[in-house]
Amino acid sequence: MQYETVIGLEIHVQLLTQSKAFCSDTNEYASLPNTNISAISLAHPGTLPKMNQNHLDKAILLGLAFGSDIKPYSYFDRKNYFYPDLPKGYQITQDKAPYCTGGKISFLSEGNLKSIRLHHIHMEEDAGKSIHDLHEILTLVDINRAGVPLLEIVTEPDFRSGQEVSDFMAELQKAVKYLGISDGNMEEGSFRCDCNVSVMLKGATTYGERCEIKNMNSKRFAKLAIEYEAQRQIAVLKQGGTIHKTTMLYDPDANVTRPMRKKESENDYRYFPEPDLPPIMIANDYIFEISKQLVALPVQRHQTLRTQYQLSHADADLLTEELEWSNAFYALSAQINDYKDLAELFIHKVLPYLKSENKSLAELGDLTHLHQFVALLQSDKVSKSAAYQHIFPKWILDISQKPLNIAEELQLIKSDDQSFLDDLILNVINSFPDKVKEYQKGKKGLVGFFMGQVMQKSGGKADPKLLQTKMEHALNL
Ligand code: ADP
Ligand code: MG
Repeated sequence: MQYETVIGLEIHVQLLTQSKAFCSDTNEYASLPNTNISAISLAHPGTLPKMNQNHLDKAILLGLAFGSDIKPYSYFDRKNYFYPDLPKGYQITQDKAPYCTGGKISFLSEGNLKSIRLHHIHMEEDAGKSIHDLHEILTLVDINRAGVPLLEIVTEPDFRSGQEVSDFMAELQKAVKYLGISDGNMEEGSFRCDCNVSVMLKGATTYGERCEIKNMNSKRFAKLAIEYEAQRQIAVLKQGGTIHKTTMLYDPDANVTRPMRKKESENDYRYFPEPDLPPIMIANDYIFEISKQLVALPVQRHQTLRTQYQLSHADADLLTEELEWSNAFYALSAQINDYKDLAELFIHKVLPYLKSENKSLAELGDLTHLHQFVALLQSDKVSKSAAYQHIFPKWILDISQKPLNIAEELQLIKSDDQSFLDDLILNVINSFPDKVKEYQKGKKGLVGFFMGQVMQKSGGKADPKLLQTKMEHALNL
């Protein structure tokens, strides 16, 4: 019997705000432990929370980006539980009346456009961090993270494989960066995900019982954890057993999921409305103001780059990695008729350079200088290989330099006088007598090899068309 995996996600996104969700303590990841902690973060008696408008603005923006319904009225709840890194003894969250419901998120999974539905998004605060088992016995508590503004995105159980989840997470991670609401950094915990997994017989109309794998902070591990968990459940069912709703943890070293200790997974949060914060009322014109910050999402840009610009899947992937990259490409290609050389320069040379040097596009300065390099490529004054191999590495250090000047400096300008070719051709033919025989016996593809040799010796100054004619002529003598 064939089983199908069903997955729904709860994703926590830490927001890029200056201060925390309910007080003015700094929201910063890299601070020394327990330095961003006023009496409010520490929950001293008598302290009161105050909403952070930036938290709400970013929340609304995210909801709008996915076509969700922003509620005119919502409120906060208290979720009560005890843990050393939660000084208040409760988390401020939204349970009964989240600020946002519905909507959908599109993404590319193995080349196909998929779409999953959102159940809702809600606002909440993060808890502090416990660092366990230091010297095997100690647990340390860092309260810096307590009160950091979060959004929790809850999807419908619309995923059918670990691969889909991993591809979705990649898109959502880019989207929150595009919108400027989060750095999406999974290693630092600003983007983490709980995966609810169940299995059912193919074609069944009711879902099976689910288990929840907590706190995945890597796309690859999320995929592996889901795949393992689904196989585990299928094995239980095949032996006639039943699945009990359980909270699991993934162990990446062993690549298995294991139940959390029972005590930790049995929840009774006693939610009730937060009495210290007023309800949230959002007017339509406020939403309209926020909507001005919307940008086209990575998946939409990917489609545009594939269809309107005829770029390959891999090129579109690279260009959409960063908002500023795709923005720059659109702007630059709008300024010229034939963008093919620009696309090649930008995607295959400039972006890999930025990645390897860990630089931002802004550090290059005025990007319209790229057009000068494109003009050089199209001018026929230097060969393409000379332009990319010799001129580009010097030019990219300061793109305000005239690429033509660098070409002159390096003596790479193709001379009109191509008489030097004959000597070089003869020289190459004499150096490879065996290859010449092979060519004459019919291995005509070798002409490329001979041309490459001459091109190299000429320092890129040979005119390829003329070289080919002369080369073929010489080889056939
Ligand atoms: P709870 O209120 O107990 O947290 P919800 O019904 O709100 O549960 O669902 C939480 C998450 O679990 C959602 O992401 C949802 O898509 C997912 N989910 C619900 N039922 C299933 C199921 N049968 N299989 C997989 N995921 C599920
Ligand atoms: Mg839940």
